[in-house]
Amino acid sequence: MTSTNDIRRGFLDYFEKNGHARVQSAPLVPHNDPTLMFVNAGMVPFKNVFTGLESRPYSTAVSSQKCVRAGGKHNDLDNVGYTARHHTFFEMLGNFSFGDYFKEQAILHAWTLLTKEWGLPADRLTATVYHTDDQAFDLWKKIAGLPEERIIRIATKDNFWAMGSDGPCGPCSEIFYDHGDHIPGGPPGSPDEDGDRFVEIWNLVFMQFLQENDEIVGDLPKPSIDTGMGLERVAAVLQGVTDNYDTDTFKALIAASEALTHTRAEGEQQASHRVIADHLRASGFLVADGVLPANEGRGYVLRRIMRRAMRHAHILGAKDPLMHRLVPSLVSEMGAAFPELVRAQPLIEATLEQEETRFRQTLSNGLRLLDEATASMGEGGTLPGATAFKLYDTYGFPYDLTEDALRARGMSVDRTGFDAAMAEQKAAARAAWKGSGEKASDELWYDLAEEVGATEFTGYNGTEGEGAV
Ligand code: ATP
Ligand code: MG
Ligand code: MG
Ligand code: MG
Repeated sequence: MTSTNDIRRGFLDYFEKNGHARVQSAPLVPHNDPTLMFVNAGMVPFKNVFTGLESRPYSTAVSSQKCVRAGGKHNDLDNVGYTARHHTFFEMLGNFSFGDYFKEQAILHAWTLLTKEWGLPADRLTATVYHTDDQAFDLWKKIAGLPEERIIRIATKDNFWAMGSDGPCGPCSEIFYDHGDHIPGGPPGSPDEDGDRFVEIWNLVFMQFLQENDEIVGDLPKPSIDTGMGLERVAAVLQGVTDNYDTDTFKALIAASEALTHTRAEGEQQASHRVIADHLRASGFLVADGVLPANEGRGYVLRRIMRRAMRHAHILGAKDPLMHRLVPSLVSEMGAAFPELVRAQPLIEATLEQEETRFRQTLSNGLRLLDEATASMGEGGTLPGATAFKLYDTYGFPYDLTEDALRARGMSVDRTGFDAAMAEQKAAARAAWKGSGEKASDELWYDLAEEVGATEFTGYNGTEGEGAV
């Protein structure tokens, strides 16, 4: 079996051998981009090279970029634990051309790597193109010999990429792997495309137009290429499994949490183990890149990620802080590729332990209040929304935990009442903030903190900078 570490190396070696400069992953905290919370795609560190603001001593590059998608336009947090292919932290493998090669070479490289170097069967691969991109359609026929029914024209934004309302943009072509008809799901563009049968592995972006105010105003003088492939997804494909969480890296992390909690990642407990493994990676890498848990901004997102994992440790019955004891497994899986993890190991462990100690205190205070509030309620009772909100707001007790705890007693929560209390408090806080005269960028952070503070913290859907391929 090819390990995830070997697959990353294989990707970098292939493109380096083909003339690309090997570029280290940039830190997760974007440099010079206050509108973006975390780097969420391989192209982010190259944004200014694509727009021509910055030049580099190379015209083609390859990287494996650390990414976090836990807020903003790309928020995969709620998917984690429940889909086979989403993580909060993942690595995006990418090859880039800054006005050097274009579509034909990009498709040729992708096809050669997947089918020749890695030996994937051609009949398991499907490509999508933007519906008007006849050129890409013809290239897939010519280079890959794909039959027309496996080159799917897609008319949605999924296949058209833009850096923002102004700047480079262009059609994309995505490559999907078909795990086989024993897995539910349909091809891209079909009504059941969200199933696990066809998994999107690689997105090729053809930057060829210039946009102003969301309107194409002309051709880019030097068309460019930006691609992104999820390392964990392609590792699943190459390791012959249908689920990212069954790849070597995740199996090792999940085995460690199974051993420490004396539970198995099966049935109802599977999602908890997956959340713990995923959030351990996100937490470890964010701390290594200088983010610490806090009550605002990036630190707040990190705190919510950590606490979500800790809540699952609690669900699995952990009696003491657990997350910091998993760090050695993370370092042994990923430390060779990311020496910053090794350097930061003591800090990651101390941060997780302190956060989990505090969180457990919060949990026990909250559970006591919950006991008092439910003492007079019988089975089938409903906890008032205002009480659930007090638990959340005053005790930092997540809504879903309240719900879990009540479910175990045959009770439920008045969600509408909870939402109403939350909306009322947000309106009051926003009014107070508006009056404070803080400048716009702080307001942006405020929006973020406010939104991610919501129990399932879906992130804010505001003006976050464009990043993803
Ligand atoms: P999906 O439709 O599955 O959510 P996407 O279209 O949002 O993926 P892109 O923005 O095109 O993803 O990113 C390029 C590649 O990065 C994807 O083809 C996929 O392999 C990988 N990827 C994207 N999001 C995630 C994630 N949350 N976890 C793991 N890999 C991801
Ligand atoms: Mg997505
Ligand atoms: Mg997609
Ligand atoms: Mg995509």
